[in-house]
Order: sequence, then structure tokens, then C-alpha cells
Amino acid sequence: MPLPDGTHYFDHAATTPVDPRVLAAMLPYFSTEFGNPGGVYRLGQRAAAAVDESREEIAAILRCRPTEIIFTSGGSEADNLAIKGIAQANRARGNHIITSSIEHHAVLHTCQALEQQGFQVTYLPVDAQGRVAVADVAAAITPATVLVTIMLANNEIGSIQPIAEIGALCRARHIPFHTDAVQGGGLLPLDVTQLQVDALSLSAHKFYGPRGVGVLYLRTGTRIAPQTHGGSQERNRRAGTENVAGIVGASTALTLAQNERVTEVVRLSALRDQLIANVERIPAARLTGHPTDRLANNASFAFQGIEGEALLLHLDLAGIAASSGSACTSAVVDPSHVLVAIGLDDHWNRGHLRLTLGRDTTAEDVTAVSAQLPMMVESLRQLGSTPIASH
Ligand SMILES: *Cc1c(COP(=O)(O)O)cnc(C)c1O
Repeated sequence: MPLPDGTHYFDHAATTPVDPRVLAAMLPYFSTEFGNPGGVYRLGQRAAAAVDESREEIAAILRCRPTEIIFTSGGSEADNLAIKGIAQANRARGNHIITSSIEHHAVLHTCQALEQQGFQVTYLPVDAQGRVAVADVAAAITPATVLVTIMLANNEIGSIQPIAEIGALCRARHIPFHTDAVQGGGLLPLDVTQLQVDALSLSAHKFYGPRGVGVLYLRTGTRIAPQTHGGSQERNRRAGTENVAGIVGASTALTLAQNERVTEVVRLSALRDQLIANVERIPAARLTGHPTDRLANNASFAFQGIEGEALLLHLDLAGIAASSGSACTSAVVDPSHVLVAIGLDDHWNRGHLRLTLGRDTTAEDVTAVSAQLPMMVESLRQLGSTPIASH
């Protein structure tokens, strides 16, 4: 169903609208229930109780203890806290970190920052479907390895990683294992025992909660060096007055998303597969990412000989909001690190298109984009792939 302004919104991997039920749950904490959870008076204690309840709700979904939940300002901060915090806390044991070459920048750039501090990072390759091999993780482990961080599902191409297997391996070697599960929030099971992870990041705005709120699960006994110093909030692991409304929004959104997950995944997968079938009929178009082990909402493609950025501008003129891993930095279109890592060559990796579906997506939207794409791709190829506007 198009948005009220007529947009066919296909960028749910970038962000999602706040669910009205989530907004309703949050509103009192902006106004009458504005108390600081640190206050001893009833107004403060009601806010503290709301934070406690949210923590318990999220812990029930992740099947962990409430004390293992740390609220942050988003997915990026959760990734930073987990990676820098665990690496620094274990610095005396070693200085080696293992990650993959297709992580979100919140992980990659954090690892690069740690390299500046003397850590050594192994960036594992992925196969053509965007999957890390468990054997490659095993082979990369050294006596100095103090952290493995591999994402649950990729934000550009949707591939899902064998997290439980990697987790079992890390656990056997007593190496802390973090996963950026941000894209899995409303779409994949998040049982941390089954996933065998020690740390897991989530971001509320990826599952119909507010932007600017994240969750870090940190298994009891996993040592962490705080990255934000100040008050004793979050059991001394992350200082700062709690974002009470945001935290209530995050727990409400995660509860709704996980309650509706199984039916929504069935619905989205059917729409996604229809969309993939339609787009694959376009000449010189191919699916990127794994054909089956992929997020239910992710349809991502490469088109030979065109520029993704130009395609996005044409789609926008037709009222379709989408995104591409081939972003325009300066005058040239650079392929994303993910497209390079899956081995797409220069003829293909500039023409990436990501269409991500969500709660508002219906067959009507799939039909609209499927009808527009073939002629846009065709005309861009005839134009010799020059972007329609520079910006
Ligand atoms: C969106 C996203 C993030 C960053 O989350 P923010 O809440 O926007 O900071 C991190 N990792 C992945 C995989 C994401 O998709």
C-alpha cells in the first residue's frame, strides 16, 4: 500500500515507521511521566519501573536475564560498545579480532579504529552468495584472538550467516562472540542461547520502533570496558539518563514484531519471491545474496551496465523509494564493499538495487515497481549509463 504521500516505500532495511501502538506506549513518557529513573520520588520510580519492565520484556524475547540487557542510543552504539568494550577488556589476553568483509560500517569502522590502537583484525572473505564459511572462522583463530564479530544478516544483500555454528566454535575455544543482529530484529528468531552468542546488537528503528534507541545483549561473565563514562546507569556499563520513552518504544516494538514475526515472514517472503521472479525477467539482471538463506524482506539485484544511483533517481521520480549499495561518492559510482566481497565485477557492481519490504508493502507496491523497472533499466542502458543528474 503506498504511503499517504503516494510513495511506494521499499527501504525498510534503512528505517521503518514507528508503529502507532508503539507511539501510544511512548507518549506518556514525554509528558506526564517525564521523571528521571534515578529519582527517589514516585514520578522517578514510575519511570524506573517502565525501564525495568522494558528490560524484562526484551530479555524474555532474547531468552536471557534482564541484567544482560544494556540500552544504547542505537545499533551503531551497541556495535561500538560490544566491539571496543570486549576487545579492550581482554587486551591483556590478546589483540586479535575476527570479523567479515561484509559487515555494516558500524562494525567495520569500529574494527578499523581498533587497528589504530594496536589490534590486528582479520576480515574474512565471503562466498558469491555472501556467506562466511565456519571453517574460515576456525582457521583464523589464533591464541591472541579475543573477539569474533559476524553479523546475523546482511543489510545490503540479505544473506543470513551460520551464527549458531560460529557461536559453537567460539564457545569451544572460549572466545567472546558478538553478532550485529540489527537486520534480524523483526524477521529472525533472537534466542541468544540457540544463537550461542555472548553479545548481540539490535536497533529499534529497524523494527517499527523509534530511531535513536538500541539494545546490546551482553552475556553474564563477558567482560566489557565501558565506552561512555558518567553515572551508574545500565549497571555501570553505559552512563547517561535513560531514554525512557525510547526504551518503552523499543520493547513494545520488539514484542509486537516478534509476536507477529512468523505470519509476517510468510507474507513478506511470498511478496519478495514474486518481486524477485518479476525482476529476474529483465535481461542481464541477477539476484544478489543467497537465494534461500536470505531475509524475508530483502530483494536485491545487480543490473549489468547501469549505475545504481541513476536508477534510484528514476525510481524516485516514479514515487518509488529504494536504495543501492552503489553509492555516488564524488563524481563516480563506487560499488559497496559488500558487492566487491561477493565477487561482482565492474560491469555489474555499479548497478546494484536494494528493495526491502515491510508491513506497509502489498502486492500493489510489488506490481508498481515491477512495471516500472524494465523500461528504466532499458532506457538507462541506452543512455550509456550516464546519471540523469549530478548532485
Ligand atoms: C541500521 C544498521 C546498523 C546501525 O543502526 P543505527 O540504529 O542506525 O545506528 C547497524 N548494523 C546494521 C546491520 C544495520 O542495518
